[in-house]
Amino acid sequence: MANILVTGGAGYIGSHTCLELLNAGHQVVVLDNLSNSSAESLQRVQALTQKSLHFIEGDIRDGAGLDQLFQQHKIDAVIHFAGLKAVGESQQIPLAYFEHNIAGSISLAQAMQRAGVFKLVFSSSATVYDEANISPLNEEMPTGMPSNNYGYTKLIIEQLLEKLTIADERWSIALLRYFNPVGAHKSGQIGEDPQGIPNNLMPYVTQVAVGRREKLSIFGSDYDTVDGTGVRDYIHVVDLANAHLCALNNRLNAQGCRAWNIGTGNGISVLQVKNTFEQVNGVEIPFELAPRRAGDVATSFADNRRAIAELGWQPQYGLEDMLADSWNWQKQNPNGYR
Ligand code: NAD
Ligand code: UDP
Repeated sequence: MANILVTGGAGYIGSHTCLELLNAGHQVVVLDNLSNSSAESLQRVQALTQKSLHFIEGDIRDGAGLDQLFQQHKIDAVIHFAGLKAVGESQQIPLAYFEHNIAGSISLAQAMQRAGVFKLVFSSSATVYDEANISPLNEEMPTGMPSNNYGYTKLIIEQLLEKLTIADERWSIALLRYFNPVGAHKSGQIGEDPQGIPNNLMPYVTQVAVGRREKLSIFGSDYDTVDGTGVRDYIHVVDLANAHLCALNNRLNAQGCRAWNIGTGNGISVLQVKNTFEQVNGVEIPFELAPRRAGDVATSFADNRRAIAELGWQPQYGLEDMLADSWNWQKQNPNGYR
């Protein structure tokens, strides 16, 4: 069992990962500035697991704070979720994205190096792939120039981390390229709680279902896909959380930098998401067909064979579970954690 620092652990994916870490017997320290989350998520994680974790409200850009954390807690490895993630916002305020994501990751790596901690699992994204690649996307395919500043920060951080492992063989770093995380823990006690109008499809659908939004706008119905709407690879957040535990185990006994796709390998269209949500949950989702959203690609889904072969990871949940669990969370928490 290991002592794990989870940056951004109060957030959507972080809270689900903390729960799985505690259930697996690890000791967990969370560092989060709560800029996009609530400490209530961690209270619920502790109630669900009947185990405690240590929460520190702080910022990854604060090197002195990180030094203090590493002095006070013996840490074996870091899972790094902290960062800003709104694509549209990243076009409006790029410097904030460069600072929180890129400078924040450098600050974290510097503090890890000072503390002698060299195992890191980083939250990357499928957005780093070149848009010209044809799905299923595999890890050997070229990365490209992401169309937005958020994606650009993920690409830069991946490259910086890779260079770090080349320069200093003490580092061992996992780059997990997430596809589209959705769903929630079975209990419905923790889930995705975006602030303001959701950018992502799933929280938008559940907020329509619960009556917080009038109707779903489907962005683009003339793509070259099964029904004209965009195709993505939706992955249950609990499967995604477990991928971090597998990556952690892999990195505890390895050196260097390696990327893994975390997706199911199934391409699902927006209309299929909407229709299946209605069938599984027995609620209607009013919708309209709207113009394409700038920067969207028609189709993106994973070749996940590397993660399955090398990490011993296997996704357990299908689309119906994802949609039932998303709705279970939203229904029980119509206003999220507030
Ligand atoms: P989230 O916003 O729920 O979680 C991120 C957490 O980091 C939040 O709790 C926030 O308060 C915290 N945070 C932000 N800046 C910080 C800072 N400077 N110092 C300390 N804490 C800070 O987002 P999420 O969906 O759980 O995503 C987690 C990670 O996964 C992010 O890095 C995100 O970019 C990446 N990712 C997410 C998706 C997705 O669709 N959700 C897809 C690919 C990659
Ligand atoms: N989408 C949509 N309406 C919304 C939000 C998203 O039609 O309100 C579509 C979007 O165009 C894409 C898919 O849903 O085809 C997934 O979008 P999301 O923003 O969730 O993830 P992305 O793949 O863009 O990171």
